[in-house]
Amino acid sequence: MDNDAHNLQSLIEAMDDVILELTEQSVIKRVWAKDKSKLFMPPEFFIDKSIPEVFGEFGNIFINCINNLLRTGERQQCIYPDFDKNKNLWYCAKFQKIDSSNTDIRIVCIIEDITVEKEMTDQLEKNRLELIEAKNLAEQVARKRTETLSIMSHEIRTPLNAIIGISNLLDQATFSNKDIKEYVDHLSYSSNHLLRLINDILDLEKIESKKMELNETPTNLISLINNVYKQFLPFAKTKNLSLYFNHDCQTPEFLLIDDLRLTRILNNLIANAIKFTEKGEVCITLKTLVNQDNKASILFKISDTGIGIPEHLHNLIFDKFHQVNQDSHRQQEGSGLGLNITRGLVRLFNSEIHLTSKPSVGSVFEFQIDFKKNMPLLPQPEKKAESTEFNFPPLPDFKLLIVDDNPTNLLVATRQLSRFGIHSDKADNGYSAIEFLKTKEYDVVLVDLHMPGMDGYQLAKYIQEKHPETKVIIFTADVLEEVKLRLKEMGIQYILSKPFKPEEMFDLFLEVLESK
Ligand code: ADP
Repeated sequence: MDNDAHNLQSLIEAMDDVILELTEQSVIKRVWAKDKSKLFMPPEFFIDKSIPEVFGEFGNIFINCINNLLRTGERQQCIYPDFDKNKNLWYCAKFQKIDSSNTDIRIVCIIEDITVEKEMTDQLEKNRLELIEAKNLAEQVARKRTETLSIMSHEIRTPLNAIIGISNLLDQATFSNKDIKEYVDHLSYSSNHLLRLINDILDLEKIESKKMELNETPTNLISLINNVYKQFLPFAKTKNLSLYFNHDCQTPEFLLIDDLRLTRILNNLIANAIKFTEKGEVCITLKTLVNQDNKASILFKISDTGIGIPEHLHNLIFDKFHQVNQDSHRQQEGSGLGLNITRGLVRLFNSEIHLTSKPSVGSVFEFQIDFKKNMPLLPQPEKKAESTEFNFPPLPDFKLLIVDDNPTNLLVATRQLSRFGIHSDKADNGYSAIEFLKTKEYDVVLVDLHMPGMDGYQLAKYIQEKHPETKVIIFTADVLEEVKLRLKEMGIQYILSKPFKPEEMFDLFLEVLESK
């Protein structure tokens, strides 16, 4: 062996790869392998055997490469797994023609173990795919957030425009009583709309964080539904729609019901039914499926003859912030929260809401609730349909102090109380409230919670310690459960939420005064 050949031999033997020298008929002429364990049989067993003889069917991948190499003269390569699947190893075989002094064509095949590289590329590819997925998801979330913000912004700006616009009008000229009544109606509608939106968002948060629990009390089901029905009659009438309430004679009267939540579900569904119906009727139907001594199962059905909902949107409309832009109908106002909250509330009752609907025919939303039964306690008065006319009997005379740092809230509360015939002292912070308390014995103090310096909690504690006869009513816009819990722990049971309705304020004062 001359020197060059010797060097080549040492170089080849230093390589980790397996090298085969082949004829153009794919017969193996020589084999090199530094690590003989990489061959599945002793090297001499390969010599003068063709690729199919040695590798069987598996050799086809090599034969293809060799044919391509002979046809094109260009280097070929293939990647393949170990014959033994349990080994989980990968190889790359590279084929190249070599110059030979004799006329026979010789092919060299270098087989390299690429398991580590393959794992790395696979992992990289997977990471890249995951990155793309994460990017797509992030883009989708961003799009949804923009969409949500745009809906919310629209929903908040629309009533605000009315409130601000009417305030400007009121500031500019003199008006007839008719003008004023119209302005006040718009102010009231727009501000109530804003309040509903905020309450919806708070409820949604409570449902999603599973902080909402049923509060069941003995309730007359029929009068509950009757109240809801009566409340919607004027709305249905303005659209010339018939509104019906039917129930079978089996329907039990007294059940344990979370009346606020059930009312909320029905309100949402009936409001939608009327909103999306231009002619025909809306029906509230109750069907008694089970009526036993201790339980009853009731099917609630809200049906309408409105625009209906195409089948492909049946699930989508329950998504939050999802409004369906139906071509046949002008865009209605709404945050797209209603049905999401409704479904959450129905689930709170351990039930599911079902929808059947056909475009241009109408929609039916139904759900079934199992109630526990209760013996009648007190006859429940039926509420009158909501009206803006209030007739309040005079409250007994008492001494009242109102503490609030917000001048508008202070003004609204004192003016409303004076309409009930109550005159009050006003303090715009906790310290001046204490000064008032030192000079006069008050029956009731209405205390705002969030005030700079001394807050409502501190002031309430001071009153409880120094003036135990004085009743504290907390006057707050903070309606979180945590706040209610903290006040309960302090022994404070009276809360007037901002914004308040006159009748809520009246009823609360009546209750507080009666408890004295
Ligand atoms: P919104 O508060 O915006 O009305 P909802 O969650 O209550 O939102 O309803 C979502 C969408 O479902 C509505 O925008 C409307 O397209 C559709 N929808 C709900 N109820 C009805 C119904 N009774 N008839 C037709 N479409 C309805």
